[in-house]
Amino acid sequence: MTHVFGRHFLQIPGPSPVPDRVLRAMSAQVIDHRGPEFGELGLKARAGMKTIFKTQQDVIIYPSSGTGAWEAALANVLKEGDRVLMYETGHFATLWKKMAEKLGVRAEFIGGDWRSGADPDQIEQHLRADTGHEIKAVCVVHNETSTGSVSPIADVRRAMDAAGHPALLMVDTISGLASIDFRFDEWGIDVAVSGSQKGLMLPPGISFNAVSGKALEAAKNNGMRRSYWDWQEMVEINGKGYFPYTPATNMLYGLVEAIDMLHEEGLDTVFARHQRLAAATRAAVRAWGLEVLCNRQGHESGVLTTVMMPEGHSADAFRAEALRHYNISLGSGLSKVADKVFRIGHLGDINDLTLVGALSGVEMALSKARVPHEKGGVAAAMEHLESTPAPGIDA
Ligand code: PLP
Repeated sequence: MTHVFGRHFLQIPGPSPVPDRVLRAMSAQVIDHRGPEFGELGLKARAGMKTIFKTQQDVIIYPSSGTGAWEAALANVLKEGDRVLMYETGHFATLWKKMAEKLGVRAEFIGGDWRSGADPDQIEQHLRADTGHEIKAVCVVHNETSTGSVSPIADVRRAMDAAGHPALLMVDTISGLASIDFRFDEWGIDVAVSGSQKGLMLPPGISFNAVSGKALEAAKNNGMRRSYWDWQEMVEINGKGYFPYTPATNMLYGLVEAIDMLHEEGLDTVFARHQRLAAATRAAVRAWGLEVLCNRQGHESGVLTTVMMPEGHSADAFRAEALRHYNISLGSGLSKVADKVFRIGHLGDINDLTLVGALSGVEMALSKARVPHEKGGVAAAMEHLESTPAPGIDA
C-alpha cells in the first residue's frame, strides 16, 4: 500500500525539502526576462548570492544542474593538455576528475579511502614537486556528498601558499554552501561551484560559479573553446541583472526568498543548527552500534551522515524497507560504496523534530530489515539535543 497521509520524509543529502515560503514565492507569474522588473530580480539574486558565498567578487548563475557549473569552472580556466591536481574524497570528486579527463585536461588524482576530506599536506607535497608550475588548478570537493566528509579548504589554501604555487583553487561546494561554513574571499578561493538543491533549499535547476579576479583573468588568457559556459558575457550581462538567454525566472523568485530566510536566521545560526543536528545523528549511529563512514575527527559533515552497514547486510534492501514502512527516503551508497552504506541527509529546512522523526524511521526500519543493532539511537540523539543549546532559540 502506498502512503496517503502524513508527509514524506525526504532525508537524502539533496535535493532537500523546499520550504513553503520558497514554494509560494516560486508560484508567482513569469515575467518578461528583458523587462525592468526582471533586472531588479536578477540584481537581487546576484547580490544575495555574494553574501552567501561571502565574496565581493563575481557570482554567475546558470540555468543548469551542478554538473554544468562544474564544466563551466573547468572550461573557463583550463585548456586541453593542462594539468590539474584533484583529490579523491569520494564519488563526486571522482566524477569531476572524469569530466576533466573527458575535456582533455590531464588530471592528477591524489588517492583517498573515502573516509575523510582532503589532506592539505599531500596537496602541498604535490605542489612543491611541481617546480615548473605546470599545475594550473587544484580542485577540491568541500562537502563530499557521497561520504559525509568535509575538506578543510582554508588549510588547503595555506598549503598552496606554503608551497608558493600559483595554481588556482577551485572548490565544489554544491552540497556545502548555505549549510556549513564557507568563505570564498577569506579562504582565497578562485572558483567555487554550487547548486540550488541542497543548503539553498530550492528545487534542482540552477547552479553557480563564484569567480575571483585572478580566475577571470585566467579565463581571458586561457580556457578551452566554450560558448554557453563562457564567464565573460555572463559577468557583463548578469552584472546588469539579466542573462544572455532565457533564465530560470521562477527559480530566481525562490532563490531570493531562500536567501532572505537564511539571513533572517543568520548564517552563523544556520551553520550551528546543522552542526548540532549532525552531532545528534552521529550520537544515534554510535548508540545503534553502527559506524559512521567518515573516520577523521573534525572532517564529519554537518550536511549528511553516512552509515556503514554491518557485513553481509544490504543497505539498499534496508532503504527499501524504510521507504515502504515509514515513507522516508534515505540516500543510497554511490559507486564504490553502493549497497554498503546509506546516507542520512540533515540539511536545509530541518529542525529538531524533523531529525528525531527521521532517526525514528531509521531505527524502526533497522528492526524491520533485521539489521543487527542496539536500540537507543533515537534516545541518544534526543539526549544530545536536550543537552545542547539550540542555536537562535536558546540563548
Ligand atoms: N558535486 C557534489 C558534491 C554533489 O553533491 C553533486 C550532486 O549531488 C554534484 C557535484 C553534481 O551536481 P548535480 O547533480 O546538480 O549536477
